[in-house]
Amino acid sequence: MNEDERSILFIFAHPDDETFTCAGTACRYAAEGVRLALVTATRGEAGKCGQPPVCSQEELPAVREGELRRAAEIIGIGELHFLDYKDKELTAAPVEEVRRALVRIIREVRPTIVITFDPEGLNLHPDHIAISRFTSDAVAAAADARWFPEAGDAHEVERLLWTTPKRFDEVAALDNPDREAGVDYILDVSYWRQAKAEALRAHRTQQESINKIFFEIPNSEVILSMEVYRQAWNPRSKQLPFGDLFAEL
Ligand SMILES: [Zn+2]
Repeated sequence: MNEDERSILFIFAHPDDETFTCAGTACRYAAEGVRLALVTATRGEAGKCGQPPVCSQEELPAVREGELRRAAEIIGIGELHFLDYKDKELTAAPVEEVRRALVRIIREVRPTIVITFDPEGLNLHPDHIAISRFTSDAVAAAADARWFPEAGDAHEVERLLWTTPKRFDEVAALDNPDREAGVDYILDVSYWRQAKAEALRAHRTQQESINKIFFEIPNSEVILSMEVYRQAWNPRSKQLPFGDLFAEL
């Protein structure tokens, strides 16, 4: 496909989900000139305010929005959309309303690839599971012109990817990753490790958990150096795992 037309739309639940799972991927494709957009369904206002607190609980949604904007800037995501749902209440969001909102954004951005959480939501967080389900639903609806004709021309996403249900260090330790279910794309993002670390640190209110997961562990460099995805329902190539999300497109 024409290089200039390539685009990726990330769809996640909270500010920081994108950086945890996809920061290196975003850096790599931004450097290649791929258009990157992000949908974040909530402002993560039920989360922690930091230790010591960066702000009050009332200020948290605005602060986390600012943190997300800064992280997105670092990793090259040029376009942000908020859905304005409440943190920890995404499972109760009206299905038709979310579908319409996501279909509208998908038809506007017209992404080649959409990336969201796997159906288990990475860590079984109900908001993560909900956004995975809503995204799969919306990708299908966006391609069908009978849904929401007022929300733009139908658009078929060429590849829907889920974040891998495996931990990155588990994947790194595999002798034969091609035989592992759920490991379809393995991206070496070691070149962008510093940028990923900087984007993680931009989520200041979430530093405690970020430190535990990424920085205060013995294999920190390994964790920061790879990002892994599972292909959803599109035809599965015999060549998987790929090192490039756009392979064979
Ligand atoms: Zn999250």
